Amino acid sequence: MNEDTRQLGARRDGAAIVHEDLQVDAFVVGDLATNCYVLTDLESGESVVIDPGGMSHELRDALQGSDVSWVILTHGHADHIGATREAVELTGAKIALHRDDVRLYGDPNMNLTAMTGQSGQMPDIDRQLDHGDEITIGRHLLTVHHTPGHTPGSISLVGDGVAFSGDTLFAGSIGRTDLPGGSYENMLDSLRHLVQSLSPGDLIYPGHGPQTTMQNERDINPYLRDL
Ligand SMILES: [Zn+2]
Ligand SMILES: [Zn+2]
Repeated sequence: MNEDTRQLGARRDGAAIVHEDLQVDAFVVGDLATNCYVLTDLESGESVVIDPGGMSHELRDALQGSDVSWVILTHGHADHIGATREAVELTGAKIALHRDDVRLYGDPNMNLTAMTGQSGQMPDIDRQLDHGDEITIGRHLLTVHHTPGHTPGSISLVGDGVAFSGDTLFAGSIGRTDLPGGSYENMLDSLRHLVQSLSPGDLIYPGHGPQTTMQNERDINPYLRDL
């Protein structure tokens, strides 16, 4: 599918202040309607971008001239990494990915870019993340939680009252575990970890679909019921 077709489906999905002056802007990008998030500390103006899976006019406008320090990838799949190069070229940001997804990220068959027709050399990873690592956005902090299962190096990013769950946890569902490097057993461990780590009221921003809360997922998500 060409760039123009992809942009037709793209939209800016709204902005919210999630904690004090941390703003989350959501952009729906690409053929698989991936959520790309731009987090901005309104005091310092510093931003990070999570999962630039595709580019849209709205996302390009938001990135141009912004002070973006990091492009953080929740995992190495095509629909989350597709516009990484463009995002970096627009902003000069560095790229962070969990170390267990670096091989997948660089392999067109494993990262599925061979299937989506986007294949090409991916830009180098500047920082290989580990569980417990921290990324700052002005005065705010995101902590890396290693949540494998969808891919070996999938992460969830946890801040004050908010989590970005990539393709691990969705509203009412979970990510696939049948793709290269996936593991249902690891997925269940990761979901258990998220349930124990997050507070019921925490907002969850998934890699696809609407936002939710941990309490809502504990109430309605069938995959969390028997953990
Ligand atoms: Zn994925
Ligand atoms: Zn995805």
